[in-house]
Amino acid sequence: MGNRDVKLLEEQIREGIPLDWESAKTLFKLPIHTLGKLAQIQRYRLHPEKIVTYVVDRNINYTNICISYCKFCAFYRAPNSKDGYLLSFEEIAKKIEETIALGGYQILLQGGINPDLDLEYFERLFTFIKNRYPQIHLHALSPPEIIYLSKSSGLSVDEVLKRLIKAGLDSIPGGGAEILVDRVRKILSPNKATSEEWLYVMERAHLLGLKTTATMMFGHIETDEEILEHLFKIRNLQEKTKGFTAFIPWTFQPKNTALSHLPKAGAVRYLQVLAISRIVLHNIPNIQVSWVTQGPQVAQLALEFGGNDFGSTMIEENVVASAGVSHRLSEEELRAYIREAGYIPKRRKMDYTIIEN
Ligand code: SF4
Repeated sequence: MGNRDVKLLEEQIREGIPLDWESAKTLFKLPIHTLGKLAQIQRYRLHPEKIVTYVVDRNINYTNICISYCKFCAFYRAPNSKDGYLLSFEEIAKKIEETIALGGYQILLQGGINPDLDLEYFERLFTFIKNRYPQIHLHALSPPEIIYLSKSSGLSVDEVLKRLIKAGLDSIPGGGAEILVDRVRKILSPNKATSEEWLYVMERAHLLGLKTTATMMFGHIETDEEILEHLFKIRNLQEKTKGFTAFIPWTFQPKNTALSHLPKAGAVRYLQVLAISRIVLHNIPNIQVSWVTQGPQVAQLALEFGGNDFGSTMIEENVVASAGVSHRLSEEELRAYIREAGYIPKRRKMDYTIIEN
């Protein structure tokens, strides 16, 4: 690819014109610094100010019991396993109180696919949380959990979502997307929602007025083209619904999983895919960097590769920690990393509106 082609790409990105498949494919051949430059054009087109946002929240994994048996997961335990758990409502309440005490505004509530929990359980749990802590934003479940509830209750996805919204669901995290290509899903997570089901839940949620995020876990068995297929599917749905607030790519953490023999994707691959995501997803406003999987220094670098959000303070994080990766940051440390990288830290809500400190 010559300088002239890069110039053309630059102009297209500056104008907010979506890249077609062939142009997107050429991105994988560009030197990493050129990719960073292109990604930053898109970033500053969407966010002209040098602000990097973050959220103070806590991941609460209400259960680790799961019947999906995804090969990339180090977190789950099979039903009847001696290490399996289900948090009580009071244990969840205690974690929410600790979050509020630290200035937290939302909780991210997610678990495994636990066959003992039905739709009524979640209605009771959400109602309990909202009655006791009406100020808390409930960012909960993921498309595979919602598909499971639809199948187990015999109700449509719309019906399940409406009942959960009525009970207090505010938004849905984009977990369980991995790579939205069924060749990959059949190998990694054959018992989990298909790519079509994942996209369907998000589409219905957006149409019911919920905002959601989208994620991508890469660095395992996917090809470059499958990464692009994932990005194009997200971009196309966003064109229809405008319901995604952010895109969050992160790398597979092999330790303690059934795929522990796979090499771990390095920082350069992470930055390459992050930049390509920013360039291809011209219609997704925010790209989150992953200090939890990459460490804070690579996350700082990722702010030069299209990222404009530092994610969450993660008062608690269990899923990545199960794969032997454990970075911890307080809010002050997180703000210091953002400042040190040359940006202004701003605390935000789930919908990315800024909370002035
Ligand atoms: S990734 Fe989620 S659905 Fe898959 S095994 Fe782990 S907890 Fe279960």
